[in-house]
Amino acid sequence: MPSVADWNVFMDSGSRKTSSLVFSLFYFCAAGAFADTDKAAGAVARAAELAAIRAKHDKLEREVAATLRLRQEELRKERGVKTSDSGFRDTGSNASYGAKTHLQHASHWAYEGETGPTRWGKLNPAWAKCDSGTRQSPIDIRDGIQVDLEPVAFDYKMSSFNVLDNGHTIQVNVGAGNRITLTGRTYELVQFHFHRPSEEKVDGRGFEMVAHLVHKDDEGRIAVVAVLIESGNPHGLIQTVWNNLPLEKLDPLVPGISFDVNQLLPQRREYYTYMGSLTTPPCNEGVLWIVLKEPIQVSRQQIAIFARLYSMNARPVQASSGRLIKESN
Ligand SMILES: [Zn+2]
Repeated sequence: MPSVADWNVFMDSGSRKTSSLVFSLFYFCAAGAFADTDKAAGAVARAAELAAIRAKHDKLEREVAATLRLRQEELRKERGVKTSDSGFRDTGSNASYGAKTHLQHASHWAYEGETGPTRWGKLNPAWAKCDSGTRQSPIDIRDGIQVDLEPVAFDYKMSSFNVLDNGHTIQVNVGAGNRITLTGRTYELVQFHFHRPSEEKVDGRGFEMVAHLVHKDDEGRIAVVAVLIESGNPHGLIQTVWNNLPLEKLDPLVPGISFDVNQLLPQRREYYTYMGSLTTPPCNEGVLWIVLKEPIQVSRQQIAIFARLYSMNARPVQASSGRLIKESN
């Protein structure tokens, strides 16, 4: 799923404000405490460092806000066109209706129909990679080379979260501090979201659903851990998410509880890995995919709840074009 912008949306504004406050306090203390002492130089350096962190943090906040505004705008246009379709058109001429429809098509995408996956690359020049890319996701994972793969070091913990219906999926934005480390790089978990059915296939076999755990490193590189989902026993964390589904699209529900992100992972951590892309517009490439081999189970009823909201939100598999796929022994 979602657009690069969507993937950036994370953390509820409450926790961001709290961390801003913490930064401010820390900044104030660090700058004040050592004034007029021989440690002043160190304090100044530390203050500069903190100011840089603040600036980075504020930039991120602005990006998140801009993203939400964009998506809200997109949704408003969508609703506007629907209103026109139902004949409730008071002022618009045919010409302006046409322009509006065009605009809507330029900014909206779907999983079927004329804004479906085969059209994504033509809907917006910025999404051309969806058509022209040769390292797109998802793929049918087969013929991987079996090697001793370094285990992914999962460092997940109890976290605050909020639940967002972004119009393409249910996305759970997770509080800071959940990380994975792989080949010397550390990526922070930003959000996870769901597809039904699974986007990825393994030797031609699809799964009931998949959860995509989206991580980013300091330089903005994306690593996605895919957790395949089959039907079976009810799943505690999934139930917690479903219990907190928001009533309105783009209006996140911020529960006053935490969950343990580790619950999302299967027991065994063997995986497939390959280089691919975002599976939604703009289909940017350079995404590191880590697909865990062992699925987790959720109940039929839990799958049915997601299906009520999104019965089909999976991009079809893309050509693997000779890409190297590695898999744990
Ligand atoms: Zn996804």
